[in-house]
Amino acid sequence: MIQEDIYTLLESYSPMGVDEYFRLAMYHQDYGYYHRKIPMGQEGDYVTSPEISQVFGELIGLWCLDVWQKLGKPEKIALVELGPGRGTLMTDLLRAAQLDHSFARALEIHLVEISPTLRSQQHQRLSTYSPTWHQELSTLPALPTLFIANEFFDALPHKQYEAQDHLWYERLITCEEQTLTWTRAQEPTTLPFQADPQTIIEIPQEGEIILNQMSTHLKAHQGAALIIDYGSHREGGYGDTLQALYRHQQCSPFYWPGQSDLTFQVNFHHIKKIFDHHGIPEIHGTTQGDFLQKMGIMERTNQLAEKHPQAALASFRLISSQHMGQLFKVLGAASPHIQLIGF
Ligand code: SAH
Repeated sequence: MIQEDIYTLLESYSPMGVDEYFRLAMYHQDYGYYHRKIPMGQEGDYVTSPEISQVFGELIGLWCLDVWQKLGKPEKIALVELGPGRGTLMTDLLRAAQLDHSFARALEIHLVEISPTLRSQQHQRLSTYSPTWHQELSTLPALPTLFIANEFFDALPHKQYEAQDHLWYERLITCEEQTLTWTRAQEPTTLPFQADPQTIIEIPQEGEIILNQMSTHLKAHQGAALIIDYGSHREGGYGDTLQALYRHQQCSPFYWPGQSDLTFQVNFHHIKKIFDHHGIPEIHGTTQGDFLQKMGIMERTNQLAEKHPQAALASFRLISSQHMGQLFKVLGAASPHIQLIGF
């Protein structure tokens, strides 16, 4: 039985860092979540913005068009989506891109995706655009680039550390007799943060590598990045943010490893610092609600609602502070002299 096997696997790694637990539960090629499930949509465990309304991807398409124009309309530009899910955002974005045929012709589509199940869904929906798939960013072409990442950075492994007596100790997970429990390392770890009592911090090592690659790529080839996720722009850690969703219900991150979706809240302050460190000059942050309103969500929704009245409710979910408008944040970063719209 596959579920017993995942516990045997977890026991063989026990005690393990939170990042290791995440990798095994999410990425393992026999037992991992991404190899066994279609995570998003009504049948999955959660719904993302592009799955709620087509307007989301369309407005991001207009954002991309604006950056391309400000870059001087390069003949070729790479459009790179990180973690494209079912390919919905990209489908809506590319439809909107047809508003300007030269822009649509300039686009070269690159998808960074780890899940074989989702890759095949993306293939079904996007094959007419001949996308290239990548396992990671080092194989991207040397072109001006537009990076798009919606709910990608929350889906990457993080390490956790807790402070005691002004020292940091890594939080670990043990697995014995199919039961998972928290523990912590015996020896402290040196980290460049002050270990205030009772604090937990999270370090997204893979995310940092990807952000460094994005920054280097933007510096070398020009372009912009748009990152949208559940998290905060505030400085400082916010404790243990690991959460699990199973069939749209929140559950313990130890519930059904490999079957429930694990995520962390994204620390946008940390992302901004990485872009800053690389000297990326234009960095802006806001909420999803503000961004979409500045991008013209109301106008587009009114237009759509004439034929599809449900469009109004869908847009409301994206921008209202009771739903995704406040909790989700947006960060834009760009080459020198590109004044980004939406902020
Ligand atoms: N952007 C989509 C999906 C978000 S879910 C949407 O908004 O609907 C997270 C996505 O990131 C999935 O496509 C998942 O398979 C992908 N992913 C997770 N970890 C990854 C990694 N390390 N490398 C590449 N893709 C990854």
